[in-house]
Amino acid sequence: MIEITSANIEKAINKARQTKPFVKVIEFRLYSVTNKTTGATYEVKFTKINNTKYAECNCKATVICYHIGASIGAHIVLAEQMHTATA
Ligand SMILES: [Zn+2]
Repeated sequence: MIEITSANIEKAINKARQTKPFVKVIEFRLYSVTNKTTGATYEVKFTKINNTKYAECNCKATVICYHIGASIGAHIVLAEQMHTATA
């Protein structure tokens, strides 16, 4: 599990913009990210503990990777929708 910071997530989002992987929602906080070129699919999971956000991906990277960068966009939209739904 890696802590998400504004610096590391920005890098990951930029990388995701170049790679443009396909993101599928498995459930809230769980996403499947597929590299359209290689077909490799990885699972990304988001966790929030005491207002600190964490993410993990089952790829080889030990940093906030572009899979996390790609899925956080979908995650933010879903989180907002859920917030609106419960408000
Ligand atoms: Zn990854």
